[in-house]
Amino acid sequence: MNRINRLSPRLANQIAAGEVVERPASVLKEMLENSLDAGARRIDIEVEQGGKKLLRVRDDGGGIHKDDLALALSRHATSKIARLEDLEAIGSLGFRGEALASIGSVSRLELSSRTADGGETGWTVRAEGQQMEASLKPCQHGVGATVEMRDLFFNTPARKKFLKTERTEFTRLDEVFKRVALSRFDVQFGLRHNQRTVHDLRPAATETDQRRRIGLVCGPGFLENSVPIEQRAAGLLLRGWISLPAFSRSQADLQYFYVNGRVVRDKIVSHAIRQAYHDVLYHGRHPAYVLFLELDPKTVDVNVHPTKHEVRFRDSRLVHDFLFRSLHRELGDIKPEARREEAPQEAPASLPEQPALPLRDAWQVREAPGAYRSDPADSPRSPDEFAEQYARLFGGGEETPPLGYAIAQLHGVYILAQNKDGLIIVDMHAAHERITYERMKQALEQERLRRQSLLVPLPLAVSAAEADCAETHRESLLALGLELERVAGEAIVVRQVPALLKDADIEQLVRDVLSDLIEFGASDRLQSRQNELLSTMACHGSVRANHRLGIHEMNALLRDMEATERSGQCNHGRPTWVWQSMADLDKLFLRGR
Ligand code: ADP
Ligand code: MG
Repeated sequence: MNRINRLSPRLANQIAAGEVVERPASVLKEMLENSLDAGARRIDIEVEQGGKKLLRVRDDGGGIHKDDLALALSRHATSKIARLEDLEAIGSLGFRGEALASIGSVSRLELSSRTADGGETGWTVRAEGQQMEASLKPCQHGVGATVEMRDLFFNTPARKKFLKTERTEFTRLDEVFKRVALSRFDVQFGLRHNQRTVHDLRPAATETDQRRRIGLVCGPGFLENSVPIEQRAAGLLLRGWISLPAFSRSQADLQYFYVNGRVVRDKIVSHAIRQAYHDVLYHGRHPAYVLFLELDPKTVDVNVHPTKHEVRFRDSRLVHDFLFRSLHRELGDIKPEARREEAPQEAPASLPEQPALPLRDAWQVREAPGAYRSDPADSPRSPDEFAEQYARLFGGGEETPPLGYAIAQLHGVYILAQNKDGLIIVDMHAAHERITYERMKQALEQERLRRQSLLVPLPLAVSAAEADCAETHRESLLALGLELERVAGEAIVVRQVPALLKDADIEQLVRDVLSDLIEFGASDRLQSRQNELLSTMACHGSVRANHRLGIHEMNALLRDMEATERSGQCNHGRPTWVWQSMADLDKLFLRGR
């Protein structure tokens, strides 16, 4: 048997470093958090060879007192908390007092700083794999601090082997940079790699500047296809930008979520967001968002994980519901009317949310023979005539409705309509499908989800926790059409199910619902299985391509679209209509006005 030794502080640090320092990107995250905690207004980052060779972060924050420089590099040394109570409502990003000690134990680290009250000279301290140099050296430095790390893992070759190519490491660094840069619009950030400027982000105080930064960090696609959101309830505030359903991504790579300014990846959060987008996103696609959640720090525990990527909400159910409701409402509001109001001054050429027509397609519209055929049975032919008749029948209405009046049907697939400012093209089938689907959903809600009793109640053996859960949520499940009854410590029976789902795999459904409820405090399975079914039914029940519609029918469809939630996309997330302004058309024909 081996006897027990006490680990040397150095070895203990190297072990601890495994949790915090995985690669250059994780070092950068710690350094940036320190600079922000020090109140920096400007942060400049210099990287060489993907951060493997050099990573230097310089800031203009408060700096470190000369006498504390060496202490900053040792473990469990922090200026951010002093008592246990401080942990309960943390205002700073760091608090564990581990990062610099960990980084110093696996690299060559140099810390330089000057404080406002510390005279004209700055001071530097060095550590090499935790062997600290005995003396401080004077240096030139403005008020603030510079942390420089060289040769990561030079003394731990086994870990060095896990580093990837320069390029991959830099990509990860860049991702960390973006996450932090989006969390503080008021701070200036610069990033250089191998002497080349990669990012140069000025402080963004105004809404326009903020959108500019969003565009620089998330790309122009997101900028053009997102809407701002701001919702508050029950002491929670959610703001930021969310992508329109027509702009989805194949990967969950454009998702930034902050809790009280801290970058967070959280199951409850992503579940709530997914659920909100469920109805409008094509299966397997991911929404994009930059969202900031603010809530009382006392209701979040950030001391859950060494890298502080995870948090624990005191009332996770509340947070889940708030996120879901806010986003769901916002997405529901995106319909033609909303778009028109927004038709933004900055980009008068086209409504940004809907793709403008590519040139070729517009050309075909003009060229297509018979494009102007319309049902001879319909009396008013032209939009003007129609508007007149419409106004006569329904009163008032000099205003052209947002989607205008139908002019013609193109090849049995598209409706061409004229509105106040240009041409609208509607994908008939997609639009109708969305309308049918929303109507069916509404009808279903109104019916309060009809239940169907099972001829033979279905007994299920479950865990005690699942049975507890079935009991606690009995009423709310019943409201969704599912009746579960606990018959023993570890057994339940299913008595009733939503009528729509009577042919589904009931056992699987119930098990999934219970496991969701246990994990997230909520389950969208019943809803989403029903919606899936509705969506299929709506698809089959909708106007197919090549179905001739009369002018009246087309106009009715346009009016329905204006009145329907989420009518900007079909159930699969494709756009249902596009718009070309007169100005766009004039441009096509090189026609000055
Ligand atoms: P923590 O951030 O958890 O306190 P760190 O090891 O990251 O622990 O940093 C230790 C201490 O060093 C911090 O508490 C802070 O006082 C000081 N420090 C680190 N970086 C900076 C900086 N850029 N500017 C000012 N002080 C810093
Ligand atoms: Mg820190």
